Amino acid sequence: SVEKEKFTFQTEVSRLMHLIINSLYKTREIFLRELISNASDALDKIRFLSLTDPEAIAANPGLEITIAADPEKKTLVITDSGIGMTRQQLKDNLGTIAKSGTSEFLAKMESGKSDITQIGQFGVGFYSVFLVADRVTVASKSNDDPDQYIWMSTAVDDFTIAKDPRGNTLKRGTQITLHLKPDAYRFLQEKNLKELVHKYSQFITFPIMVWSGQEEEVPVQEQETLLNDDLVEESIDDDINKSDKKKKTEKRMVYGWHHINVQKPIWMRDPKDITDKDHKEFFKSLTREPTDPLAWTHFKGEGEIEFRTLLYVPSVVNDVFYQNVQKDQSNHPIKLFVKRVFISDEVDLLPKWLSFLKGIVDADDMPLNVSRETLQKHRSLRIITRHLVKKALDMFTSLSENDPKAFAKFLGQYGTILKYGAIEDQPYRKKITSLLRFATSSNTEPFSSSLDDYIDRAKADQKSIYFMTGSNIAEIEQSPFIESLLARGYEILYFTDPIDESFVDKIPGYNGKQFVNIAKGDLTFGDDELEADRDLEIKFRPLTDWLVDTLHESIEKAVISQRLTTSPFAIVAPKSGLSGHAQRVLDAQGV
Ligand code: ADP
Ligand code: MG
Repeated sequence: SVEKEKFTFQTEVSRLMHLIINSLYKTREIFLRELISNASDALDKIRFLSLTDPEAIAANPGLEITIAADPEKKTLVITDSGIGMTRQQLKDNLGTIAKSGTSEFLAKMESGKSDITQIGQFGVGFYSVFLVADRVTVASKSNDDPDQYIWMSTAVDDFTIAKDPRGNTLKRGTQITLHLKPDAYRFLQEKNLKELVHKYSQFITFPIMVWSGQEEEVPVQEQETLLNDDLVEESIDDDINKSDKKKKTEKRMVYGWHHINVQKPIWMRDPKDITDKDHKEFFKSLTREPTDPLAWTHFKGEGEIEFRTLLYVPSVVNDVFYQNVQKDQSNHPIKLFVKRVFISDEVDLLPKWLSFLKGIVDADDMPLNVSRETLQKHRSLRIITRHLVKKALDMFTSLSENDPKAFAKFLGQYGTILKYGAIEDQPYRKKITSLLRFATSSNTEPFSSSLDDYIDRAKADQKSIYFMTGSNIAEIEQSPFIESLLARGYEILYFTDPIDESFVDKIPGYNGKQFVNIAKGDLTFGDDELEADRDLEIKFRPLTDWLVDTLHESIEKAVISQRLTTSPFAIVAPKSGLSGHAQRVLDAQGV
């Protein structure tokens, strides 16, 4: 008996589907990307299991994805021989949303701040099928369930699950049938379908086959009607016969499975053969980011361990990136492959301060039958990490040399995390610090000057790198502290990033020069004999005494100083204390 059970969707799923069904998205084609990506994930999972248990793929050993349109039934059928789903998994995976952040995504979609193309990032890609279909069935067979089940829904509020009356036709895997809406019939056309599959499958490591007709040279019928006796003659009269055969072919439509993604994965190809366009497309398919990457690097690591890698800098920092960094959660930016087999995207191959990068690593040799924790500590991974960090820094350097505008954009997005890296990661401190750029009193454009530029311009006997912090350039420019330095011809770095003050606090200096906060402590320039002007001190003693008396709760001392040129007075922080700006930052955070 085939029992059918009915379930209601989790409220969030209903909300999502409501949005999907009732909106007119131009980019509906992304449903195919989501289905291919799910099929590929499912194949990754079974292939991974088979590394340690070859029996896992025995029931259906050919790992591939097939896609077929049926123009009569108006259906599109996507089949994979992946890990499949048990009855319970069908119910859980295609009825509830487990991932966090979905509510946020829904709210963004409802207010028009996010669009459907990002659906896959939020762990709800499957539901995009309802962009083009009004009825969807998912048949699935898992090794962990004796029976094949069918999930069926017409969207809206509920779905049903039943044992498949056809039996275990799939042996293992998942078959998704989309009953297309009339306005989506164009996806049934072979040309459109093949183009789309090509677009979304180039970077999938499993073969993707589309059922289609292709013009091929085929022998014409006559030849097959030769009598047996003639075959004897054929061998005798070989030469004549060959030239005859050449003429006896014609072009005909041949239907069959056609392999669409025949190219090697992009990272296995020669970097020289890969165009910028290829990189942009690969990046987008890897990350589902809507914008092109700012920079990338593609290389082969050789020596102790051989691997290939592709690293990309997204042009916009991801919403949750800093949140994860603060919570000490990984951003898992790198997909690890071993010999083209996807292994994990939960192994940390980059230090935290570089985890804004995205990419893949494909290693030639790595233990596979170990836990993620053991793998994480493996020596090969540490070597790979070292290479990745070095190459990433090289990539940033060449971006700074070749495209200063893009580099300024890069620092705008990632400058803060790089400073954090300089604080945390001592071996790379100097290199990272050399990449930073600041506004200065000579050029108040953001990111206009490196520390090396500053030092090049400094006076011959200048021992310090002077800086002033503030929440913006205008605030700093109004400060009385900068007057006397500017009057003396010194250049000042303008620090406006909240991390700047603790950054220079934690690093001792740069190229032998100390960082000096001009809003703190005693500033001396060696040129101020006047500094010790006893006469002035004596003359103004009544004023300074009165100030200390009156303000003793707020100030430590009141002194006559050469620090200022036009302003009458300034409030200065003690050398070891917080500057006024840092104090305000802390106050604002309620510390
Ligand atoms: P995500 O892929 O981000 O997890 P989806 O909405 O695309 O989100 O898919 C939800 C879940 O449904 C997947 O995590 C997976 O467990 C399951 N699933 C979807 N398609 C397949 C498939 N072809 N084979 C096996 N499981 C699948
Ligand atoms: Mg998915």
